[in-house]
This record gives sequence, C-alpha cells and structure tokens, in this order.
Amino acid sequence: MQPVQTISSSIACDDSASRGSWQSQLSGAIRDPKALLAAVGLDERWLPGAQGGHQAFEVRVPQAYLSRIKRDDPNDPLLRQVLPLDAETRAVAGYVTDPLEEADHTPATGLIHKYATRVLMITSSACAINCRYCFRRHFPYEDHAASRAQWGETLDYLRDDDSLIEAILSGGDPLVSSDSRLAWLVGELDAISHLKRLRLHTRLPVVIPDRVDDAMLAWLSNTRLQKVMVLHINHANEIDDSVINACERLKGVGVTLLNQSVLLRGVNDDVATLRALSERLFEAGILPYYLHVLDPVAGAAHFDVPDHEACQLHDVLRGQLPGFLLPRLVREVPGADAKTPLQVPPR
Ligand code: SF4
Repeated sequence: MQPVQTISSSIACDDSASRGSWQSQLSGAIRDPKALLAAVGLDERWLPGAQGGHQAFEVRVPQAYLSRIKRDDPNDPLLRQVLPLDAETRAVAGYVTDPLEEADHTPATGLIHKYATRVLMITSSACAINCRYCFRRHFPYEDHAASRAQWGETLDYLRDDDSLIEAILSGGDPLVSSDSRLAWLVGELDAISHLKRLRLHTRLPVVIPDRVDDAMLAWLSNTRLQKVMVLHINHANEIDDSVINACERLKGVGVTLLNQSVLLRGVNDDVATLRALSERLFEAGILPYYLHVLDPVAGAAHFDVPDHEACQLHDVLRGQLPGFLLPRLVREVPGADAKTPLQVPPR
C-alpha cells in the first residue's frame, strides 16, 4: 500500500493562529502561475505551459492545500490536480465545453433538474480551488448567478413540485457563500415540507478546513432536514489532521460524510493509491461513494484513463477492500436518469 505522505518534506504549514479566517485564506489563494511554481519549487521552464493553461482556466490554490504538496516534485499527485499545463490548450476530438449537457436541464436560473426526486442549486459561481479536470471549467456561471429575487423563483419551483425530496447545493462550491446567505437559503428549504434531505457538494472542508467553523455549524444544526455532505477527495495525501478535525466537527452536528473521486491519470490511477484513499477516507469518518471516470471536458484529456483500464483497476480493488470501502465506478451520461455503472467496453 502506498504510504500517506507525511508533511515533513512538504511546504511548511502556518500554525492555526497565523492562518487567519477562512475568508482571508480564500482571498489569499494563489492565483498566479508564477507564484504557484515558486511555492512548489518548480523552475520557470514550467511557466509557458502554466500560463497557457491559466488563460483557459485560472489558477487558484489556497495555502492550506498547498501545504500538503511535496516541494520540487512535478509529479506530486496534489500538484497535478492544480497545475495548469500546455496540454489544456490543445483541442481533442470528443472533449467539449459542456460534456454533461447541463444547459438542457435548467428550468430556472441557478437550478439544474436532471434526476427525479432531487434538484441541484448552483449556489455559488466560484470555488476555493480550481481543479484542472473540472467538468464545469467552462460553465457559464454568469448566466446562473441568481439574485435574491431569482432565488424566489427557484424556491417556488421547489415548492411547486412535491415529488422533490432532496435539494443539492452545488456550484462552484456552495461553501464559498457567506454563512448568512446559506443560513437564509437553508431556512427557506427547511420550510418546504416535502423536502427531506439537504445535500452539499463541496471541496472546501478539504482545501480550507477552517471553513468548518462555529458559524457554519450553527446553520447546519438549525434544520430539520437530514444532512449529507459529499466531499471531493482524489488522493490520501489530501487528508491531513486539519481535514480529519473538520470532519469530526461535521459529524458532531449530524452530517453524513461521503466522498466522490475522479479517476485521474497521474494522480490516482493505480490500485495501491485507490486503496490507500479508501482506507484514509474511513479513518476520517468518510465513506467512499463514487469513483467517476473523467467527463470529457475540453482541456482535461490528458487526465483520461480508458474504460477498460478503469474497470481492471476497480476489479482488483474489489478483491482488496471490504464492500463498504469500495466506491462505485460510474460515468455521468447526458440524459441518463442516474449515474451509469461502468462496464468493460467491447474491444
Ligand atoms: S472544487 Fe469541484 S467544482 Fe470547483 S473546480 Fe474543483 S472539481 Fe470543479
């Protein structure tokens, strides 16, 4: 099993007193390719490629995540998720800007309704980190930035459809929004009697664990809705003690923690790494939920792992993990009424 990387050889992390609020950590995230290269000890040979990729999708890496990246290692699995490369600027057949065809499923501003019983609300247009493989890297967030009045229309849509039982806050990352805004929104959802569950899709407790603070726990505690948080972690090295502490606080207010990963070339495309990830997730109190194959989004083709290889990896993993630690290997198919289990394609 691949060992979890210790932080001793990594970039020194600030102590808790000097980290500042989550908001200041968010605004202080690295947004410049040159600064990112300097922070991880890579020389300027990497700069032209990084600037090319950055122009297509800007760099964003908060310090708390940076602190887990090993210096002087261009193959560090966390760095590969955030370092722009020239490969992102090359057009590849089949890789498109809206791979999930979400534009066809937006009945109201800020709302995506693809699946029965649940709707997804685009609660924020930004993330704390920009993952290079993100399927929404070209999403027209400006068209979905709902005002308070438009949220009224969105909430009316939820009130009028009593087949809905779950509201999913997504983005971007919903936890980039202020606690006052989220408390208001969750209060409105709480009052819709046919809703049973609130789900959040977020990477913030992983990339800035201080986001899980008293103000956030207050609105999470103050709802009758069952709470599920689907985190997004691709490698065991992303889970340090600060992430474990944030997870413990979330569980303390009754949040069920699940994880979805993306199978990424050069990040987690081997059995030992995937097994270490499942084991580390469980240590943090998180259950592995989905292992997604890459959505074919323009700029991310270099992360692709072919289906037959993904299925082989998953088969071997099945023999090495208990069932409750084996994530479901899936792909999102536009128009399908649920995630689609991956099957070995005919050769
Ligand atoms: S945090 Fe999620 S939505 Fe944001 S860039 Fe990363 S993968 Fe995309």
